[in-house]
Amino acid sequence: MQILKKPFGEYKTNCYILKFAQGQVVLDPGVGASQWIQEQCNNVIAILNTHGHFDHIWDNSLVKRLYPKAKIFCHQKDSFLLKSDVFGLGMPLSTPDFEIQADKSSQDIELADLLITFHHFPGHTPGCCMVEINNCVFSGDFIFRGCIGRSDFAYSNAQDMRESLLRFRDIQRFENLLAYPGHGKSTRLGDEQRNVENWL
Ligand SMILES: [Zn+2]
Repeated sequence: MQILKKPFGEYKTNCYILKFAQGQVVLDPGVGASQWIQEQCNNVIAILNTHGHFDHIWDNSLVKRLYPKAKIFCHQKDSFLLKSDVFGLGMPLSTPDFEIQADKSSQDIELADLLITFHHFPGHTPGCCMVEINNCVFSGDFIFRGCIGRSDFAYSNAQDMRESLLRFRDIQRFENLLAYPGHGKSTRLGDEQRNVENWL
């Protein structure tokens, strides 16, 4: 698996392209990401959204138009953020092809011989997830390097965030996994598990 990363838009939201023999998987195509994706990809098989905030999903529909076979995956509790422009920003709408149902737990998806696991950690948004592929964790806006996602936005829930952080801290198998966040640099999840007490 080859991982490409590029930040897009006002919030420098990281878009990731994962290259496999079977094709490419795109994570969180933000504002303007589709052009870069078009330069890098010949066969996008999936568009994965860690959560439904506009800066992570803005180019979903453009990527889907370029690669009609690509399936959009998002947690069912964030689907409304793709299907309607709730913040009134003129965002292009998109519809998930597959909705993750896991409730504060994990769900495996098999796609073209790839195993993709969504770990649901609500708080930043109702359907906020970390997405794990090949021992790499795309942590969205849940966990950053030395920081966590905000839980004071519309549709955020600070109590859910606190519960998610406690659950995250105690999952031992995360210890040695690398995390690729929605903003900023990569980190080791074990380091961020040790930081959790700073945010409670
Ligand atoms: Zn967000």
